[in-house]
Amino acid sequence: MVYEVIIIGSGPAGLTAGIYTARSNLKPVILGGFTWGGQLMNTTEVENYPGFPDGVMGPELMENMKKQAEKFGAVFHNKDVTKVDFSERPFKVWTEYEDDPWEAKAVIIATGANPRLLGLESEKRLFSRGISTCATCDGFFFTGKKIAVVGGGDSACEEALFLTRYADEVHLIHRRDELRASKIMQERVLEDETITVRWNTVIEEFLGETSLERVKFKNTVTGEITEESLEGAFISIGHIPNTDPFKGLLDMDEEGFIIVNKQTRTNIDGIFVAGDVEDVRYKQAVTAAASGCKAALDVEKWLEGF
Ligand code: NAP
Repeated sequence: MVYEVIIIGSGPAGLTAGIYTARSNLKPVILGGFTWGGQLMNTTEVENYPGFPDGVMGPELMENMKKQAEKFGAVFHNKDVTKVDFSERPFKVWTEYEDDPWEAKAVIIATGANPRLLGLESEKRLFSRGISTCATCDGFFFTGKKIAVVGGGDSACEEALFLTRYADEVHLIHRRDELRASKIMQERVLEDETITVRWNTVIEEFLGETSLERVKFKNTVTGEITEESLEGAFISIGHIPNTDPFKGLLDMDEEGFIIVNKQTRTNIDGIFVAGDVEDVRYKQAVTAAASGCKAALDVEKWLEGF
């Protein structure tokens, strides 16, 4: 069967594209991934999504977007896309454990981005053994402990603030002397007595046999190396776009973000893109949702001339 449109990804961009294409009667198939819902599934309260003056929990927001898309006829599958063939139409999309491809006239890629890591060997070894990228998922395990959050952006500040619910001491490790985060988040972090900001500091190595026990810090100004006991570290230093199945097919920048040619089009006619996988600048739930809406409207127009 050849579908009108396949949407790959199920964060705010993919699900909004699902709502709009479903309401246009395009009967979209959403290949939402095994772990669906995108980054908001790992978030606690979202305070800046319009329409929720008292905030909304990230997973609840995503669950509602999914319900809304399904209500209008979108068909959702928890499947990971492994391979695509965009060389001719209909486009082909393979999912894990399936031999036959899904086929569609148009595809919207909304695969989002994943947490970036520091790239240390010891980080790999001790990952999930004291090192994490998700405070919401793992914060509870660090009740009463001394922990670190690495990064200086909004995410790192948000994680640090959230972790004060559990940890006795939260050290925010930032490589510069100025936070990248928005003013309001900076203020909250700097005013919080549980959080200590360690300026001009990077992690040289994580130490511990079976779980994280100590960390080697380096001062980026003086070069001084110090070692301290620390039981948890949350890495929050940005994201890497999920573009593996599309490498070599779609134009991407040097970090792997898909380049948008015009409106929401990629370099391949009929392949559209939305959300964090193309957004190097804004990366907000609301901007991702908006770009999913735009991609859906562009697909609808494009299919009229198919
Ligand atoms: P980000 O804004 O890109 O910040 C990444 C931080 O990690 C920066 O402070 C950066 O340092 C640091 N960093 C990067 N690579 C590093 C490395 N190898 N070692 C040490 N530090 C490193 O990423 P983000 O905080 O994930 O936020 C992404 C976007 O989402 C932003 O636009 C943000 O505003 C938005 N966001 C918004 C909210 C909200 O509004 N509630 C919440 C979360 C995220 P430098 O500063 O030195 O570059």
